[in-house]
Amino acid sequence: MGRTGAEPTAAVIGGGPAGLMAAEVLARGGVRVTVFEHMPSVGRKLLLAGRSGLNLTHSEPLAQMIGRYGDAAPRLEAALRSFDASALRTWSADLGESTFVGTSKRVFPSSMRATPLLRAWLLRLGELGVAIETRVRWCGWDGEGQLVLRGADGAQRTVSADVVVFALGGASWPRVGSDGGWVAVFRDAGIDVHPLRPANCALVHAWSDGFVARHGGQPVKNVELAVVGVRARGDVVITSTGLEGGPVYTVSSAVRDDIERAGAAVLVMNLLPDLTTSHVAQRLGQRRPKDSISSTLKRTLRLSPAAVALVREVIGASLPVDPEALAELLTALPVSIDAVASIDRAISSAGGVSLDEVDEGFMLRRRPGTFVVGEMLDWEAPTGGYLLQATFSTAVAAANGALDWLGAQP
Ligand SMILES: Cc1cc2nc3c(=O)[nH]c(=O)nc-3n(C[C@H](O)[C@H](O)[C@H](O)COP(=O)(O)OP(=O)(O)OC[C@H]3O[C@@H](n4cnc5c(N)ncnc54)[C@H](O)[C@@H]3O)c2cc1C
Repeated sequence: MGRTGAEPTAAVIGGGPAGLMAAEVLARGGVRVTVFEHMPSVGRKLLLAGRSGLNLTHSEPLAQMIGRYGDAAPRLEAALRSFDASALRTWSADLGESTFVGTSKRVFPSSMRATPLLRAWLLRLGELGVAIETRVRWCGWDGEGQLVLRGADGAQRTVSADVVVFALGGASWPRVGSDGGWVAVFRDAGIDVHPLRPANCALVHAWSDGFVARHGGQPVKNVELAVVGVRARGDVVITSTGLEGGPVYTVSSAVRDDIERAGAAVLVMNLLPDLTTSHVAQRLGQRRPKDSISSTLKRTLRLSPAAVALVREVIGASLPVDPEALAELLTALPVSIDAVASIDRAISSAGGVSLDEVDEGFMLRRRPGTFVVGEMLDWEAPTGGYLLQATFSTAVAAANGALDWLGAQP
C-alpha cells in the first residue's frame, strides 16, 4: 500500500473502543480517517459493558497489571506502558468522565456507565474530522489488496487507504456486532488466527431439576474456587445451567484449558474460606443432639440454605454425620464441570490474530500498512478492567505505529 495523496488517509474497520481510539490518535496525527462499522451505530459492546458498571481499568501497579496478560504479556508490555491506566483515566476525564477507584481497586467512570463517555467521544471525533460510516461491512480484500465493503443495500464497493486498522473484536455477544466473521477471511489471506474461544464465561453443570427450581438464581456468598492452581474468591450464582459470577469468570479460562486438555475439569469450592478445615470440624463437633445437620450448618457456620443444598446436590447423597468428613466437603467441594458456556455469552474471547503475525507497532508482517488492534489480537485477561485497558493500549500503539510508518513512506 503506498501513499494516495497529500493528506494521508486511514480506513479503520470496526467501531468499537479499539477502532475509535485508533481513529482519534490517527486524526490527531493529521490523517484523514474513515471508520467503517457494520452495525447501525458504533460502540455497542462498550455500551453493553457499561450496563453492569463500566470497569475501565485497574489501579494496581503496572508491573502487576502486565502479568495479568499471561503468555501475551511480553508482547503487550510496551503498549501498556506507553498508554497505561493513568493515561486512560486522564483521557476519560478529558471527555468529562473523571474516574474513581472502587473497593476492589478497579477503576470506573464517575457515572459508572459508558453512554456519557461514548457521547462525548463521538463529538470529539467529529471535531477531529473523523468520518463514521455505519451499516458497512468489510468482507475481505480484492485481487489488488483493496478493501471490499458491502453496504446495507447489499451493494459492494472497494476502498483503499494509506493505512488500514482492523478492530473487529472477538466473537462474544455477536448481537452487538463482533461476530468473528473476519477469522475465515484472515485465514484465507494466509494470516495465522488462533481459534476464538470463550473467556471470562459461566461454567456448565447439569443440576437436577429440583435443585434448579429451588435455588436457581440464588447466590452462594464468599466462596473460594480453585482449579489447576488458579484461585478466586467472591460470590457465585447458581444458574439453570451451572454457575456464574466474578470468581467463576476468573477461573473459567483455566477450566476451559483443562477440559480441552483432559476432557473434564473439577472445580474445588471452599464454602468457608475464612476457616481451616479442622476449625470447621471443631465447630461441627459442637452439634447439639436435637439439631439436624442442616440446622447445625446454619447455626454454627452460618451457611445459607442454597450453600447447604449445593453440597447435597454435588455429593448426590445425604450429608455425612462425621464432622471431619463433612468439614472436608465444605472446604473442598469437588464440583465437576461439563463445559464452559458458549462464546455467545462470554465476556471476552481468547484466541485471535497470532501476535507473531504483527510487529511491535501491531502491523501485519504480511501486509505492510495494515494494523490489527483490540480483542481481535490473541491475548486474554481476567475481568477487572484489563480487557478495555489492553484494547485501548494496543489501539494507541498501533495508531502511533501507523503514523511512524506513514512518515517513513516516500
Ligand atoms: C457483557 C460485557 C461486559 C463487559 N464489561 C467490561 C468491563 O467492565 N471492563 C472491561 O475491561 N471489559 C469489559 N468487557 C469487554 C470489552 O467490552 C471488550 O474487550 C472490548 O469492547 C473490545 O473492544 P474492541 O474494539 O476490540 O472490539 P468490539 O468492542 O467488539 O468492537 C468491534 C467492532 O467491530 C465491528 N465489526 C465486526 N465485524 C465487522 C465487519 N466485518 N465489518 C465492519 N464492522 C465489523 C463490530 O460491530 C464492533 O462494533 C465486557 C464485555 C461484555 C460482553
